[in-house]
Amino acid sequence: MQYSPELDIELDNIERILWRHEAEEGPALVVFAGIHGNELAGIYACKKISYTLSKMKDRLMGSVYMISGNRQAIKKGVRYLDRDLNRIWGELSEQPDDSRTDGATEWSEAYDIFQLVNAIIDKHQKLGQSIKFIDLHTTSAESCAFIPFNDTLENRRSAALFPVPQILGIEESIHGTLLSFINDLGYPAIGFEAGGHTDPQAEERMEAFLWLYLHFAQIINLRLEEMHRYESVLETIPEVPDQYYEITYHHFVDDARKFIMKKGYRNFDVIKEGELLAYENKEPVYAPSSGLIFMPLYQQKGNDGFFILKGRSPFWLEMSSIFRDSMVNNYLHLLPGVKRISPGSFTVDLTIARFFVKEIFHLLGYRVIRKNVHTLNCFKR
Ligand SMILES: [Zn+2]
Repeated sequence: MQYSPELDIELDNIERILWRHEAEEGPALVVFAGIHGNELAGIYACKKISYTLSKMKDRLMGSVYMISGNRQAIKKGVRYLDRDLNRIWGELSEQPDDSRTDGATEWSEAYDIFQLVNAIIDKHQKLGQSIKFIDLHTTSAESCAFIPFNDTLENRRSAALFPVPQILGIEESIHGTLLSFINDLGYPAIGFEAGGHTDPQAEERMEAFLWLYLHFAQIINLRLEEMHRYESVLETIPEVPDQYYEITYHHFVDDARKFIMKKGYRNFDVIKEGELLAYENKEPVYAPSSGLIFMPLYQQKGNDGFFILKGRSPFWLEMSSIFRDSMVNNYLHLLPGVKRISPGSFTVDLTIARFFVKEIFHLLGYRVIRKNVHTLNCFKR
């Protein structure tokens, strides 16, 4: 990774607020970097950009907050120490105080960020200003840049501005992420994955993404040629078109130390059903379906072995944005096997409802989570 010595960042003692600019008017953008402690490209990109932003403060048309993530893990250069800081936000929102006793270092990090986020929201909401969030990451596999997000229309609108693959449905496979937590508070939040942890281009892509986001959020004004330059930094390889993809399979791993991914997979590589992908507890793991491999695990921490993606057609997405707020929502409980639990929340009995049920709920903007072999839980996003 390219570490610019002039940035002079002390990783042993990194500040919670990497940089901030509070404007009287205009939108607010909150950037998270280093939520995983071994993903430093975002921290470096924030630092680098903040030097330039500091010199042009009088031209900023909104507020910017750059917030560091797992500072204890950054210090040690690891993803996390006790708990993955990007998997605990569901628990935190259920019990939003620092009274936990399991001793995980990450609770104090999460609680600290939680208070800061609340203070930022409080301030800008009172002023009637829009608030948007982004979360910067890198991956253990080699990869082009991509944007993961929970499928809300507002997130789609933000993500669609960038010439990179857009990954839908991550919240149905990975629970307790910071993005889901922010979305549940009612604010748009998208991720940006810049490439492999050690890829020198990752930091450059982070910077390009941040400049473009600041422009699209109307906090700065880029010239056309600057926009094109940044967009060309983000552009992906021709084999991976910048379309929508949906997660169709998630291989959960209990112990990452016993999971060995076959070498050489990059994100979005084509795989065939039955292909040997990995060994887990010394047993072979084969691809359950054909598709594109996504986030294959090449580090000994984490619970996501790999995902399989399928491309989503623009037509389907168009349909889903039309139907999302339609009257159809009022009649879902009439479908066989579908039961309404509360407004906006249903269960689906799969032994009765066989065809396209998941697709219908997705189309209408529901989050679909499998409760057990026979039951789905569906929640309006
Ligand atoms: Zn990460």
